[in-house]
Amino acid sequence: MRFCLGLLFAWAAFAQPYDLLLKGGHVIDPKNGVDGVADVAITGTRIAAVAPNLPAANARKTIDVADLYVTPGLVDIHAHVFSGIRGSTTSGGNRSVFPDHIAFRTGVTTVVDPGSSGWRSFEDFRRTVIDTAETRVLAMLNIVGIGILSYDLEQNVEDMNPRVTADMALKHKDVVVGVKSAHWWAPNFTSVERAVEAGRLADIPVMVDFGYFLKERPYERMVTEILRPGDISTHCYRWPAPLLDANEKVRPYLSAARKRGVKFDVGHGGGSFHFRNAEPAVKQGFWPDSISTDMHTNSMNGSAVDMLNVMSKFLAMGVPLREVIRQSTTNPATIVKRPELGQIAVGAEADIAVLRVDAGRFGFADVVGGRIEGSERLGTEMTIRAGKLVFDLNGRAAVPWRSGNLKYPEK
Ligand SMILES: [Zn+2]
Repeated sequence: MRFCLGLLFAWAAFAQPYDLLLKGGHVIDPKNGVDGVADVAITGTRIAAVAPNLPAANARKTIDVADLYVTPGLVDIHAHVFSGIRGSTTSGGNRSVFPDHIAFRTGVTTVVDPGSSGWRSFEDFRRTVIDTAETRVLAMLNIVGIGILSYDLEQNVEDMNPRVTADMALKHKDVVVGVKSAHWWAPNFTSVERAVEAGRLADIPVMVDFGYFLKERPYERMVTEILRPGDISTHCYRWPAPLLDANEKVRPYLSAARKRGVKFDVGHGGGSFHFRNAEPAVKQGFWPDSISTDMHTNSMNGSAVDMLNVMSKFLAMGVPLREVIRQSTTNPATIVKRPELGQIAVGAEADIAVLRVDAGRFGFADVVGGRIEGSERLGTEMTIRAGKLVFDLNGRAAVPWRSGNLKYPEK
């Protein structure tokens, strides 16, 4: 009998190699050139197969997603999630959110925290958030050792130590993917230069939030001379960044910066996204390399809202869906040198977003109350992180409750 049961289990395992089968969705996986109807099968934590007409008999659970888009789990490389910081007055740090509070319900499976922590606070961040969240959390270290505790403290050149920052990054290279320079007020490039030095020592990219635009330290010079290929200019549509000339034409130095390999990231935030720059630039083809939210309580309760709302703004400005997905999955993953993320490839970790594109009349605001209209809005139906269904808006994985197959508590 024991032998027979063993055989039976062996047969069942053989007959049902997939734990989960997403059936009939429109798969968009820009990295692997997939843009069409296909099934996606998951076994354990990994993608087991991507192909049309995979047999449902081979899966323990099949979910019909025929009316939906299946994309890689979204990768938001500008999200403040060091929620341990409290008590500061001016910072982005104390407005952080715990990643699991926002990520999965917006299709996001990976976030990168850009500099909420520096080398002094990073290990606290790792212990309290990175190692406890279900969301995959990566980090960029602030060049200021204390991180974003306040904008005043981010001016402290004494606390900008490239060597110690690089050493901390290398010690935690499984999760530290960059260095951040932010909110720098002085009429020089000191904060940026120190961040670039730390990035060089640790061989990781630097992300710069340029703070205010001053003529003594031209933005043009930063993106054409100071940043290295692969470094990132975030808040790239912030006004008054000098993207456009008097006739609203995109300035030529931006293509020179792009040719050098400098990356432009949205970083919408609570004060860093203006249609006055974005719409003319996007309509002339100056698209972002990566779409990101600059998530914190002010931006999520403001006009950024969430990753899908920011992505929907780019749809409304005319960027095709496939490119918007590219800018929210494989592009950001590649920018932080994690090219294995942001794709749906056999063998890859199964991080997946199942999205709706709603049709209707929608409005999108920027941070000063400028508005555009659009006819499409993205929404999350389901999110899968490492093979586990972590968000399921319409209970597509659930069964009619009278079916008798449910497990109730005994007490
Ligand atoms: Zn930020």
